Amino acid sequence: MYTMRPAEFEYHQPRSLDEAISLLGDVDDSRPLAGGHSLLPMMKLRLAMPAALVDLGRIPGLDEISSSNGGLRIGAMATHAAVAGSEVAIGIAPVIPETAAAIGDLQVRNCGTIGGSVAHADPGADYPTVLKALGATITATGKNGEREIAADDFFRGIFETALEPGELVTSVTVPATPAGTGAAYVKHRHPASGYTIVGAAALVEIEGGNATSARLTIGGVTSPPVHATAAADAVKGGPGSAEAIAAAAEKVSEAIPEASGDAYASGEYRTHLAKVLAARALTKAFERAG
Ligand SMILES: Cc1cc2nc3c(=O)[nH]c(=O)nc-3n(C[C@H](O)[C@H](O)[C@H](O)COP(=O)(O)OP(=O)(O)OC[C@H]3O[C@@H](n4cnc5c(N)ncnc54)[C@H](O)[C@@H]3O)c2cc1C
Repeated sequence: MYTMRPAEFEYHQPRSLDEAISLLGDVDDSRPLAGGHSLLPMMKLRLAMPAALVDLGRIPGLDEISSSNGGLRIGAMATHAAVAGSEVAIGIAPVIPETAAAIGDLQVRNCGTIGGSVAHADPGADYPTVLKALGATITATGKNGEREIAADDFFRGIFETALEPGELVTSVTVPATPAGTGAAYVKHRHPASGYTIVGAAALVEIEGGNATSARLTIGGVTSPPVHATAAADAVKGGPGSAEAIAAAAEKVSEAIPEASGDAYASGEYRTHLAKVLAARALTKAFERAG
């Protein structure tokens, strides 16, 4: 039976990362709490019933946004609103703050965090698609220290990631998008929830007017998001004409032979959206690269 009250749980407020990691290791059935915008609704519906919550909100520095070796490092507790408004992020990889600014509504953006979003790995989430397209890295920290996980390896399926029990996402690092490189993310969202039904992220590098590399990633049609390699390859070597992009977008379906459908949108409709959005994302990425 559904209820709007979560089952009983202990609540811990660690003041350091070490303390949080110890708690997650020592307290049975404990779970990290970030913005709570995915976990708390699940607890209220009793889809999740952790015995204890370890609130990451009081750990200093976990929300920092900074440049790192020319790339962008975003602390796990950075909210979507903080990322959206970060001058550092806008300067290094503007598609990231753009993505953050279009997540949910103001309340969701003020509470939801990048760490929570990637750890939750919702098939309707925006960050996973963009992070895969940009070749980002997720830093996970546990009792054995830190490890770097490529976004390609991190996202494994619906609500499934490469995180080991007791490990926390501590930051996300995105390589810079230098001059001559254009990145774009476009999506079709559900009109009521705002969640993405399908999203497409494109990254294009141009030299002498033609694309020397291209990457296209589609989210919401499969889980995890998938690289549409044949479509991206099809625009390589050219200037990104409307005809070439339209032909490339047709190849998106090669990457999604088994599109998943649900009550919101059939697999067939999602595949259609993926092609339309792929063309838009590639067009925008070419414009930005030029
Ligand atoms: C109405 C609504 C609309 C939304 N629309 C969108 C949308 O358009 N696009 C989109 O991408 N998202 C959307 N979201 C989801 C939103 O972005 C959430 O904030 C996000 O999915 C989870 O982040 P959180 O900080 O709230 O995490 P929480 O809810 O606190 O945690 C989510 C899960 O991640 C785990 N976790 C949290 N932080 C960490 C960490 N650092 N390390 C390891 N595990 C961790 C928790 O234990 C939990 O299992 C929406 C949510 C709502 C309620």
